[in-house]
Parts: sequence; C-alpha cells; structure tokens
Amino acid sequence: MPLRQSMRLGAYLAKQKIKRVEKFPLLVELEPLFACNLKCAGCGKIEQPHDVLKKRMPVEQAVAAVLESGAPMVSIAGGEPLMHKQIDEIVRQLLDRNKIVFLCTNAVLLPKHIDKFRPHRNFAWMVHIDGLRDRHDESVRKIGVFDQAVAAIKEAKARGFRVMTNTTFFDTDTPNDVIELLDYLNDDLGVDNMQISPGYAYERAPDQEHWLGTEQTRALFKAAFGEGRRKKWRLNHSPLFLDFLEGRREFECTPWGIPSYSLLGWQRPCYLLDDGYTETYKELIETTEWDAYGRGRDPRCSNCMAHCGYEPTAVLATMGSLRETIRAAGVLN
Ligand code: SF4
Ligand code: SF4
Repeated sequence: MPLRQSMRLGAYLAKQKIKRVEKFPLLVELEPLFACNLKCAGCGKIEQPHDVLKKRMPVEQAVAAVLESGAPMVSIAGGEPLMHKQIDEIVRQLLDRNKIVFLCTNAVLLPKHIDKFRPHRNFAWMVHIDGLRDRHDESVRKIGVFDQAVAAIKEAKARGFRVMTNTTFFDTDTPNDVIELLDYLNDDLGVDNMQISPGYAYERAPDQEHWLGTEQTRALFKAAFGEGRRKKWRLNHSPLFLDFLEGRREFECTPWGIPSYSLLGWQRPCYLLDDGYTETYKELIETTEWDAYGRGRDPRCSNCMAHCGYEPTAVLATMGSLRETIRAAGVLN
C-alpha cells in the first residue's frame, strides 16, 4: 500500500480503538451485480438464478451501504463490474467521499471502458490473473483472455493508473507455478501490487474438488516464498498474513473485518459462506453469532485461509505490536 493509504488506515484503526468500537470493517467487498462475461472454474457468483443475474445495484444503494459501514476501503467485484453501466459513477462517488477504491475486473472489457475513468491517488484496477497464459485461460475457460488481460494492464499502466492483480491458487498449482507467475507480474509486467489467495471452499462454486487444504496451502507458499522471493515481490498483504500463509503464524478468523455487500444484502458471516443476509451493516454486526465461525467451530471453515477472514486478524495484530508495525512499514523483515 502507498504510505499515505497505510497511514490513513492506521489512523482509522486508532480511532476505533479510542472509541472502543469492538467490530468495524476495514474494507467492504461490494458486489453491485453478479453477471459476468466469463465462466471461471472456481466462481460461484455466476451460479445465481437468471433473474438475479439480470439485476444491477443502483448507485445510491451501493454508496449508501459503504457509507453506513464506515469502512475506509472498498473492493468492487461481482460478477464483472464493467458490465454495470454506472460503475464509473459508483467509483466516482466513493472517491469523492474519500474512500480507497479497488475495481476488480477480468480486464476483457477494460480497454472499452477505460476512458470513463481517470487515475486517482485512491483508485486502483485489480485485475484477475490466475496463472500464466495456459493456466489462466484454462481457469477462465476461454483461450486468449490472458493476452487480453496483459494488454489491458499495459494500457492502464501507460495511462497512469495504479494496477494490481488478484490471483487464486488451487491444488493443481505447484510452488514453481506461483514463482513463475509472481516473477512475471512483479518483474516483467511491473504491476504495482499483487494479491494472492489460496482457493477456498466457496459454497456456491461449481468446482468443489480443487480447493487447497491448510497443510497444502502452507507447503505451497513456504516453498514459493523461499530464497528471498517473498521480500522481492510487491505483495499486497501484511507481513503477518504472509507468515500465516506459509505456516509461521496461527491466527483466528475475523470475518467482520471484510464484510460483503451484494444485491442480496450484507452476507452472513463472510464472502465465502452463505448463512443469510441483512439489510444493514449494523444489523449484520449485531445479529450474527460471530463466535460460531472459524476453524474448530464450523466445519465449513476448517480449510479456509482466505484473506477476507485472516488479513483483518493480521492487520489488527500488526497494529497491536510496535515491532510488527515497523515490519509492515518495510523497515524490518
Ligand atoms: S471473472 Fe470473476 S466474476 Fe467472472 S466468472 Fe471469473 S471469477 Fe467469476
Ligand atoms: S474461516 Fe472465516 S473467512 Fe473463512 S469461511 Fe469461515 S468465517 Fe468465512
């Protein structure tokens, strides 16, 4: 994260502490539509019924939900957000309210819509890349999408946008696959930051076979991060979350830290599980039995190491330790 954004997040966390707020969002996963122009193997969003896939969230509803939560950051996903005709207006209104906005996309429509957006210090494209050419095209089930995404990233970079990538790894990936992809994104393509996630047992996903178990996840990332690579890559995660991924730290899940708001409402308890929806963020916080979730409490959580549950834990642990705060600032390893 740019230093200015890290400082803003630090100030937000300090404010919650001073006000003794127990549960608060760091980032909202906003899904203003479920429709998509691709059919990726691991995605359950596009499994929604036809009438839901046709819906688009009104701009006012999207902005009001984020404002009600008070989160300083918003990650807009879907579906494919660029299929929402007013997505640029949602982004603009969130930026006007001083939110840090990540716009997730598979990048196929990015060249067509890029003129609707302007570079902004609080805005970044987050492009979905699941591997190098063959692996990515297999994952999205369409040949040529990797090359389209790479061309779109280059164009966005050339126009002065901040560009990040988001990659999910599955049990078919080897440490070498992780290394080759992250080296390519980091060194050859020069993306600003990369986000990584172990494939998780997402309830609605059609492919339920290739999720990583916790031991597989730890072994995969431990091998990939070795020989100084972890430090070299511009990963968009706190050091403690990366420690967690490679098995050097154990954490409990903090599902309320990255809540998800979609056309169906606020999703209980997190982006991955589907235990109902609430109309408001307040209702989500007050009526969810948070202690019922996490490893050892809910069997559905037993293999989950996803960033939406564990990055908030890592961020809160970072803020609670001077050493970890300095480490996160990049001064220590
Ligand atoms: S691009 Fe994203 S939303 Fe679309 S099918 Fe793939 S994972 Fe799902
Ligand atoms: S461990 Fe946390 S983030 Fe993962 S599925 Fe369970 S509640 Fe959700």
